[in-house]
Amino acid sequence: MKIGAPKESARGEARVALTPESAQHIQKLGHECLIEAGAGEAAGFSDAAYRDAGVSVVDGADALWRDAEVVIKVREPSDDEVKQLHEGQTLITFFWPAQNEALLEACKAQGATVVAMDMVPRISRAQKMDALSSMANIAGYRAVIEAGNNFGRFFTGQVTAAGKVPPAKVLVVGAGVAGLAAIGTATSLGAVVRAFDVRPEVSEQIESMGAEFLFLEFDESQDGSESGGYAAPSSPEFREKQLECFREQAPDVDIVITTALIPGKPAPKLWLEDMVAAMKPGSVIIDLAAEKGGNCDLTKPDERVVSDNGVVVVGYTDFPSRMATQASLLYATNIRHMLTDLTPEKDGVINHNMDDDVIRGATVAHQGEITFPPPPPKVK
Ligand code: NAD
Repeated sequence: MKIGAPKESARGEARVALTPESAQHIQKLGHECLIEAGAGEAAGFSDAAYRDAGVSVVDGADALWRDAEVVIKVREPSDDEVKQLHEGQTLITFFWPAQNEALLEACKAQGATVVAMDMVPRISRAQKMDALSSMANIAGYRAVIEAGNNFGRFFTGQVTAAGKVPPAKVLVVGAGVAGLAAIGTATSLGAVVRAFDVRPEVSEQIESMGAEFLFLEFDESQDGSESGGYAAPSSPEFREKQLECFREQAPDVDIVITTALIPGKPAPKLWLEDMVAAMKPGSVIIDLAAEKGGNCDLTKPDERVVSDNGVVVVGYTDFPSRMATQASLLYATNIRHMLTDLTPEKDGVINHNMDDDVIRGATVAHQGEITFPPPPPKVK
């Protein structure tokens, strides 16, 4: 079948869903690969590199959407792109069906099948397709790089002829995939790292990376986890204790990286105005929850603001796109693994097996029917 990647149409999006490397794997499944001319440029992949990998470079999005039987993308389709979808065509992309009901309806009306990469069940067998984790890992790493870029000092402590330099103190709030990546990156740069999460089970992971887990003195256990490993909203008493702990940390830490999210809810506000005011001038806050409203009171999505007392607050929502080469390499690999499962005979024929937990879970529209939300997966 013809698998095609258009140039991303969302403003500022630099990632691409097909790389020369992933194209070679997809061709081994018996498929043909197409790419829109210039689609990989912002991620560092030239048209010539695609041609060398056996990919047909087509001029213009119209030809791509017309000819590809499977369209692979990074961002959900624009209204114009949805109009190009046609019956029998499959679209594989991040889609966020719960937030994009009208878009899903529109795709259904076009008779297309939509596989949402953000809906891949988080079970062991599907880890190779877990694009959410791939992107969160990059966001966590990049958050530390961005913090370093805005922080006027070293991360590591040094003793030099010109004087002693203390290590930077970094606090990471939320230790999911992005938080753990931030902890690993900050400790490897030599910072003193502390971390907090409502899920106590992450304490071992945090400590094994050389960081300190901040425990709360609380009558009940520090347990804010729900089934499925995700966080639940905290009780008011727990939240008060947590804010008390952060108030103590605020004057001491140099960099705060917040990543706290609760699925389906706005991000909890955890780093309040008074905490920013208590921080030292030149300190930096990177709020990875900015897209969901932010964990910090001062966060403005997609902006870098400086508080009255000189604290930099970064609310960019495009960290993976800021590392477009790495992000595209990982995302394209997640996509080609999805295509591998969709092509079990490696004969260039897509077998959309709705009895397969992973394919079923990720499929949000199938042959003109909406198939979201999926039933819970049967296997772990
Ligand atoms: P996420 O992005 O939903 O949330 C980020 C972190 O914020 C979580 O660790 C959460 O506990 C934390 N948080 C929420 N409210 C908080 C608060 N008030 N204070 C402090 N921290 C708070 O999380 P994620 O990175 O998507 O990971 C969620 C879970 O999914 C984890 O248990 C992770 O190990 C698991 N996971 C499993 C797989 C797999 O099995 N294939 C893959 C990826 C992630």
